[in-house]
Amino acid sequence: MAFHAINPVDGSTILTLDNWGASRLSKAMDVAELAVGTWADTPIKKRCELMYKAAEVLRARQEELATIITQEMGKLIKESRGEIKKCAWVCEYYAEHGQGFLEEEYIETDAAKSLVTYQPLGIILAVMPWNFPFWQVFRFAAPALVAGNTGLLKHASNVPQCAQAIESVFKEAGIPEGVFTTLMIGSVQVRGVIDDPRVKAVTLTGSKPAGKSVAEAAGANIKKSVLELGGSDAFIVLDDADLELAVKQGVTSRYMNGGQSCIAAKRFIVVDAIADAFLEKFKAAVEDLRTGDPMSVDTTLAPMARHDLRDELHKQVIESIEAGAKVVTGCAPEAGSGAYYQASIIDHVKPGMRAWHEELFGPVAIVIRAKNEDDAVSIANSSDFGLGGSVWTQSNARGERVARQLQCGAAFVNGLVKSDPRMPFGGIKRSGYGRELSHHGIREFVNAKTIWIK
Ligand code: NAP
Repeated sequence: MAFHAINPVDGSTILTLDNWGASRLSKAMDVAELAVGTWADTPIKKRCELMYKAAEVLRARQEELATIITQEMGKLIKESRGEIKKCAWVCEYYAEHGQGFLEEEYIETDAAKSLVTYQPLGIILAVMPWNFPFWQVFRFAAPALVAGNTGLLKHASNVPQCAQAIESVFKEAGIPEGVFTTLMIGSVQVRGVIDDPRVKAVTLTGSKPAGKSVAEAAGANIKKSVLELGGSDAFIVLDDADLELAVKQGVTSRYMNGGQSCIAAKRFIVVDAIADAFLEKFKAAVEDLRTGDPMSVDTTLAPMARHDLRDELHKQVIESIEAGAKVVTGCAPEAGSGAYYQASIIDHVKPGMRAWHEELFGPVAIVIRAKNEDDAVSIANSSDFGLGGSVWTQSNARGERVARQLQCGAAFVNGLVKSDPRMPFGGIKRSGYGRELSHHGIREFVNAKTIWIK
C-alpha cells in the first residue's frame, strides 16, 4: 500500500490505495507517448484556450477541491481556497502570455535568415510535494503544457485525492488524454520512469534527499532537471523597521500553512538594538494563534500534515534547546490524536544547533540576534540554503541595498516572500536550480533551437 491519506486533525484514515504495478504504469506511459506528437502539433492558440478552460474548471470546483486539500494535509480551508484561486491565475497567466513568451526571435547574423524557435521537449516528469498540493503542480503544468510538452505527475503519497483530482481538472477542461497523467506510484518507482527513454526531463519540488536522488537519476541519463528544494529564509529586522508591520507579516509568513512553506520566514535575524522590543510584540502575536479544526473560520494555526513530520520537528527543536537555545513560547506537540504542534519561538539560536543549520518545516520561529546590518547579512548568507529572504526597514534604499546582497532566489523589502506567476521563482545553493513562473519558467522545458539559413 503506497498511498495513505490520513486526516491530520485526528489521525483517521481517509483513503488507502495500492501503487500501480509495472503493467499499469507502462500502459499510462504508452498513452502519454501517443499524445506527445499531436499535442506538440496542436496550435499554441488552442493549447492556451484549453488552459483558460482549466482555470474555469478550477474556479467552478473551488469548494470541492479546497476541501480535499484541507482533509488530506490539514491547511486552513481559507488557505486551500486561496490555493485553488492561485492555480486558476497561473493557468490564465500562461494562457494569456505563453504564446508571446515563446515567440520566435529573429536575429541578424551572417545568414540570410537566422532565428531562435522554442520547441517542446516531450514528456516531462513532475515529482511533487504535499504542502501546496495543487499550486506546486499547476505552476509546473500550466507553462509546460502551454509550451507543448506533456506531463506525468508523481505526487506525494499522503495526497492521493489531490493527485487524482488534478488530472480530472485537465480532463474536464478538454485537454486530450495522455497530455497530463497522474501516476499512482511510490518514490521507489521514480527511477524507472526517469530511466525510460520516452521521458525527456524531470522537475522535483521537495526535500534535499529527494532532490539529490532525482538529480542523480537525471544526471545518469543526461536529462534536464529542475529542483525546487527546501529553504531557511532569513527575515531580517533592522533597527529602523516598522515593528508592528514586521511582527504582523512575520507571523503570517512563519505560521501560515501550518508553518510548512518552503519560503516561510524561518530565521528571524534581528539587530540587537530592537531585538527585545521585536520579540515582545512577536511573542504576544504568536501566542494569539489558535489551533483547531482547519475547516473552522476561528482556527488560525493549522495542524501539521503528518504525525511523523511533527515528531521530527519536535526532535529538531528539543536538540537545539539542549544545545543552548532558549524557549520563548510553545515548543511541544499538542495533546490529542491530531498532528498539532504549538506555535513556537526559540531565541539565541547559534551555529552548531540543528535549528541554525536545518530547515524547520513547521510552526517554529528561530530568533538570531545580529550586531548590525552587515552582521545580519552575513548571518543570512551563512546558510546552505538560498531560496528567499526579506528585510524590514523604513528606508527603501537601505532595504534594496540589503536585498541585493542576500544570496537567494528572491529578496523582498517590507513584504513577505511569496510566489507570483509574473516573477521568476527558484533557489540557489542547496535550495535547487532552475526557475518556475514568468517567461523563465516556460523556457525551462523547451529546446531553444537555432535555425540558420545562408
Ligand atoms: P519529500 O519528502 O522530498 O517529497 C517530495 C516528493 O518527492 C514526494 O512526491 C515524494 O514521494 C518524492 N520522493 C521522496 N523521496 C524520493 C526519492 N528518493 N526519489 C524520488 N522521489 C522521492 O518532501 P516533502 O516532505 O513532501 O516536502 C517538503 C519539502 O519540500 C521541504 O523541504 C520544502 O521546503 C520543500 N519545498 C520546496 C519548494 C520550492 O519551491 N523550493 C516548494 C514546496 C516545498 P513520497 O511522498 O511517495 O515519498
